[in-house]
Amino acid sequence: MKFNINEYLEKINCPGCGCSELKILRKSNYEKIKNYEDLLKIYKSSGDELLIDQLSQCKKCGLVFLNPRIKSKIIYKSYTENLDQEHISQDNQRYKTFYKSLTKIIERNNIKNYEKKKFLDVGCASGIFLKVLQTFKFHEEGYEPSKWMTEYGKKNYLVNINNGSIDNINIKKKYDFISFWDVLEHVTDLQKTLNKINLISKDNCILIINVPVIDSLACKILKNKWPFYLNVHLYYFTEKTLKDLFKKKNFYLQDKFPHYQYLNLDYLLFRASKYFSFFEYIHKIVKNNFLGKISIPYNVGQTTFIFKKNEI
Ligand SMILES: [Zn+2]
Repeated sequence: MKFNINEYLEKINCPGCGCSELKILRKSNYEKIKNYEDLLKIYKSSGDELLIDQLSQCKKCGLVFLNPRIKSKIIYKSYTENLDQEHISQDNQRYKTFYKSLTKIIERNNIKNYEKKKFLDVGCASGIFLKVLQTFKFHEEGYEPSKWMTEYGKKNYLVNINNGSIDNINIKKKYDFISFWDVLEHVTDLQKTLNKINLISKDNCILIINVPVIDSLACKILKNKWPFYLNVHLYYFTEKTLKDLFKKKNFYLQDKFPHYQYLNLDYLLFRASKYFSFFEYIHKIVKNNFLGKISIPYNVGQTTFIFKKNEI
């Protein structure tokens, strides 16, 4: 039987407002996918496969998202099977990044008496942010779909990780803080996720949403080479679309700032070489020596947004 990509695609209305009037921003290109194995392969890899799906924008609310997209069951299944050694290799750098970010959030938003407060991190990967939360004496809890990542984090970082998604959380649980670090753009059912956030958050809950922003200067300059155009990124938010989405759940924007992610130079060059072959040469020079281990902060449009529930 001949492989037909359409059998694996689903069409959706705007995940933000339900509207069906959409504008096509960029056409799909499924040439590289010749069979089902190819399809699984690009979703199983560490989320650095370039965008091949059609990019659409809602004519009513302006939300940008993939449509049609690969069936959400296939996408979610690939997350549960993710074995990401590359990601783990940067855990020291992630610790440093999260430590700085959390310090900044606490100081800028004048957050006090947070010890023992319940903090949920959704899509926590190996649990590095949970480790930082322990250092600050929060009561940490994480959910991660990948079985391998969950086990790795439990064993190596001794943090409180559950295997699963936000859907698996009992609605009797209520949190003071909830975070989504580079996760909201991956969730397959955006409305269901927003409803669940509403159900499991206390009054005055602080919600941290870190996402790549599509109207950022970096995105405008890099155009098609913007590294966050990925087939695993189902939504491309702006400050406006995020504010609109969360306002409906009584969360209001309190603060925002650019997110600087620290990475080792060799890892950064390896990633950059996928877009600009020139970086391949520099990567070869720094690989396997002390230069490769230099810690570099980078930002290409990632932004941290701080929302607060029920407070205007
Ligand atoms: Zn819409």
